[in-house]
Amino acid sequence: MTVASTKKAMVALARRWARQGRSIGFVPTMGSLHEGHASLIRRARKENARVAVSIFVNPKQFGPDEDYARYPRSFAADRRLCAAAGADAIYHPTVEQVYPPGFASSVEVAGLSERLCGAFRPGHFRGVATVVLKLLETVRPTRAYFGEKDFQQLVIVRRMADDLDLDCRIVGCPTVREKDGLALSSRNAYLSDEERGAAPAIRAALELGAKLWTEGKPRERVEAAVKETLAALGSATIDYASVVDPETLAEPTGPRARLLAAVRLGRTRLIDNLPLRRR
Ligand code: AMP
Repeated sequence: MTVASTKKAMVALARRWARQGRSIGFVPTMGSLHEGHASLIRRARKENARVAVSIFVNPKQFGPDEDYARYPRSFAADRRLCAAAGADAIYHPTVEQVYPPGFASSVEVAGLSERLCGAFRPGHFRGVATVVLKLLETVRPTRAYFGEKDFQQLVIVRRMADDLDLDCRIVGCPTVREKDGLALSSRNAYLSDEERGAAPAIRAALELGAKLWTEGKPRERVEAAVKETLAALGSATIDYASVVDPETLAEPTGPRARLLAAVRLGRTRLIDNLPLRRR
């Protein structure tokens, strides 16, 4: 497995693969890799001749009061996980490689970026869309893999790829969870024992909401029930619990819907979501 730490090295490798006619699967990450990331890499391994994983903690997607400085970084362990999951290359650039002096452009996916998490993290999805476009242009993959765990991010990346005619298939992959239901996340490492004990309640609350929706309860009733259940955690601050259309992230109009929630346990912000189905 190759480690490319400059853009030039990654471009050279990816273009060589392309010249050889190899399909390229790409998994962008911020590192501190876990089984959720591994599932994306394995899926990319199955569907492509070559697989690249990027590990880059993107400063542009963190707000000034967020956890950029303390975000967990563990390159040695990440490298082992990538190799075991079948990656051919890791792209591990410095911030200066991605954002050289004078960097001034950004990608704005209007509307979608202001909803849900966007309302609580201004500029977050501009940072995400900007770095994802840059990484896609560096690697020019056949397929890029994103987790449904970050559902809003997946929807925004799909919209951007469509709007900007990117020649890359965006593949959404199911959320990998702990046995107790908590969605795997690099940020779970921040949780105190007490918070870790409470965290599975997020998925449980979403399951309750999904059940009520299946029974035909209206959107407001489902959202209220999820919030009530989460409020019972005591220490949790609920940013939102919303039933939305899975493409527009606005109020659902057809039968398809998704239930998303963001909760803060102490200083740690956790997100999760589930698909909804009417009976
Ligand atoms: P991150 O390193 O948190 O930026 O995540 C990199 C990619 O891994 C994103 O596409 C995430 O949606 C995905 N991912 C993170 N956690 C999970 C999980 N528990 N299950 C599946 N995919 C995940």
